[in-house]
Amino acid sequence: MSVRTRFAPSPTGFLHIGGARTALYNWLYAKKSGGIFVLRVEDTDAARHNEEGLGKILEGLRWLGLTWDEGPDAGGDFGPYYQSERGEIYDRHLARLRESGHVYDDDGAVRFRVPDRDITVHDVICGEVTVNLHEQGSTRWDADLKENVPANPDLVIRRPDGSYIFHFCNVVDDLEMGISHVIRGEDHLSNTPKHLALFEALGAKPPVYAHIPLNLNQNGSKMSKRDQGALIHEYMENGFLPEAVNNYMALLGWSSKDDQEIFTMAELAERFDLDGVNKANSKFDYEKCLWVNGEHLKRLDPADLLERAKPFFAKVGIDADDARLPKAVELTRERAQRLSDMPTLVMSAFSDQITYDPEAVAKVTAKEGLGAVLNALHGALSGVADWTEDGIKHAIHAAAEGLGQKVGAFMLPCRVATMGGTTGPDLMPMLAMMGRDRVLKRLNAFSSTVAG
Ligand code: GLU
Repeated sequence: MSVRTRFAPSPTGFLHIGGARTALYNWLYAKKSGGIFVLRVEDTDAARHNEEGLGKILEGLRWLGLTWDEGPDAGGDFGPYYQSERGEIYDRHLARLRESGHVYDDDGAVRFRVPDRDITVHDVICGEVTVNLHEQGSTRWDADLKENVPANPDLVIRRPDGSYIFHFCNVVDDLEMGISHVIRGEDHLSNTPKHLALFEALGAKPPVYAHIPLNLNQNGSKMSKRDQGALIHEYMENGFLPEAVNNYMALLGWSSKDDQEIFTMAELAERFDLDGVNKANSKFDYEKCLWVNGEHLKRLDPADLLERAKPFFAKVGIDADDARLPKAVELTRERAQRLSDMPTLVMSAFSDQITYDPEAVAKVTAKEGLGAVLNALHGALSGVADWTEDGIKHAIHAAAEGLGQKVGAFMLPCRVATMGGTTGPDLMPMLAMMGRDRVLKRLNAFSSTVAG
């Protein structure tokens, strides 16, 4: 069987991490099997459909690299790929159901006769689910009477205004587009018996179903678009690498048998399997996602990392062509978890603004002889002919020796005076990037503040 998977978003807004994960699993499964990944836009609900929403979803998918073999812009033999343009196809299938006696008119609507027998979904992830749709639908809860009242169990598939409902379009499209595997969120599992009944009525073999358990917040609540990390656009704007976000999303519901956690896209496409998808709901963990991103940052080729980091330097006003950028990126790659952390970590070298951490200041001022140390540093650094890491290092060593002190005793005051805190990238390269004027000014200013 040739594998054809699909992602079928309703274009209602931004790409949510749950939807992106569904797209990823479909993409990976198609790649792994040498199959085709289809993008189908489920835009039948005109009220909820908006162009801008679709644009955001496509942008998010492209950023993640989850490009589709068939669908909007890509074309394909099974189009159109927008449900809003497939009315004639739905009419045709409705006519077939009419001929075979599976549907009837009811007050302007068209209803599908649901069978009065058990239907079992054999889900690759969730196992078996059995329901009798007729029994299930023959009563409904009346909120006013607060009791179950008789109902028509047959499914409306076309509304009196002529529009088709989701279940019908979804099944006709999966059938017409030759979808072999439906991998989607568990929220659709309860719809699947209806889908199986429709497939059967249309005389077609249903696809394999694989429903992915939900992705929840740490406290078990449903993730809303306002929760941190919920929208793919947040990752795009905040310095995440698309391959790292994919890696994290893969782990959010799937694990490899050997517990490896960091994967390239190629490794994921090779290793991913529906067997490894967890049956329990996953819990979104932003810290873990940051960690995965940091691991990918560390593994990037330096030239690639530099190119990807440039826009984040530009965003905070640092010229992307500044000659110091390669060094700044190299210095921060081990500490940064996101590309946007890189400019933050070296900002003291690029800006006249500096913020002092009061605890760091208190720590160095508590030591005796700070004035003499700062003086010696200032004197030594003003005399450096060659303002390079080596030149600076020699000068600081000489200054410490001159005062009969260990060089270590000079490092912390120098770091706090010029960088504002006790932590951060290595001091010597930071001083080299800062430039002599800025360093000397900061030593002076720090001396007068702590002396005064
Ligand atoms: N359009 C549906 C949704 O947004 C997807 C249905 C499916 O994947 O079958 O949830």
